[in-house]
Amino acid sequence: MLIVMEHGAAKPQVDAVVARIESLGLTPQAIPGGDRVAIGVLGNRGYVDEAPFRDLPGVREFIHVTKPFKLVSRDFHPEDTVVEVGGVRFGWGEEPVVIAGPCAVESREQVTEAARIVKRAGAGVLRGGAFKPRTGPHSFQGLGFEGLSILAQASRDAGLPVVTEVMRIDQLERVSEAADCIQIGARNMQNFDLLKETGRLGKPVLLKRGMSATLEEFLAAAEYILLEGNSQVILCERGIRTFEPALRNTLDLGVVPYLRRVTHLPVIVDPSHAVGRRELVAPMAKAALVVGAAGVMVEVHPDPCTALCDGPQSLDGQSFTALMAELAALRQVLAR
Ligand code: PEP
Ligand code: MN
Repeated sequence: MLIVMEHGAAKPQVDAVVARIESLGLTPQAIPGGDRVAIGVLGNRGYVDEAPFRDLPGVREFIHVTKPFKLVSRDFHPEDTVVEVGGVRFGWGEEPVVIAGPCAVESREQVTEAARIVKRAGAGVLRGGAFKPRTGPHSFQGLGFEGLSILAQASRDAGLPVVTEVMRIDQLERVSEAADCIQIGARNMQNFDLLKETGRLGKPVLLKRGMSATLEEFLAAAEYILLEGNSQVILCERGIRTFEPALRNTLDLGVVPYLRRVTHLPVIVDPSHAVGRRELVAPMAKAALVVGAAGVMVEVHPDPCTALCDGPQSLDGQSFTALMAELAALRQVLAR
């Protein structure tokens, strides 16, 4: 619940509300506004009763936030949050950013070349997985910590900030040393301990939507990170599982304008994991910008035919460079 104070409410009045919230075993969070102060009530398990607050002077109205998330919602934080990844800004009102790189770190040469390609084409952030969540245990699992240091070196050499996935809490320290942004993948979207520990680090987090997650569950997962005091969270729509088997997933682009209304956090789109086929990546990347995404994340491999992971959906240097030119042209049209 949000308790909205009268315009010009005096500090002792606000303090009295804060004290009443605490006396109920709940956590107050004051939200200074342009002309009115609101006080958020956190820590409740269900509906918060207004009765204990009705008689307090200076209280104007109550807004019930019945959803399982509060800190991520616009009700709590009307202004857009800008997430900075190594100086690159992601936000609703910002220029869209392209994150690009291979699905997995396979070798020093492969990542160095991928970083060179995406940098030259104008990507803002490098991606690459050292720890790979694979469906089957016989598939390439990633180079682990060795991959992490190769990736960090490639990022420094190319002068691009880097995002990489963490799968377990015991990897977090080293992942956060190597990366500018920590990715939590679709399969771990509801790994609540990992969300909490990652949130505690205070580094930007790229949270991908679980393949069967509702938007309420997605936002509730982000809420775990914000509750640790870290609001540097980018949400990523990467396709969901539906009845349709023709494509790898179904890209749910409606979530972009929807989430723009509901949350202050930036939302990007990963067309690669959504469609699963390289020839469909560019149209959906463009569609993502049209619906207002704060960026796109695209898999790029110097030689997709030899990729150890997700080759069929990876763009090569030429097609990625062509896509970047198309996105630049599109941005000009959208800016008009
Ligand atoms: C990835 O981005 O490398 C990845 C594994 O994606 P997802 O978690 O969306 O499947
Ligand atoms: Mn992949």
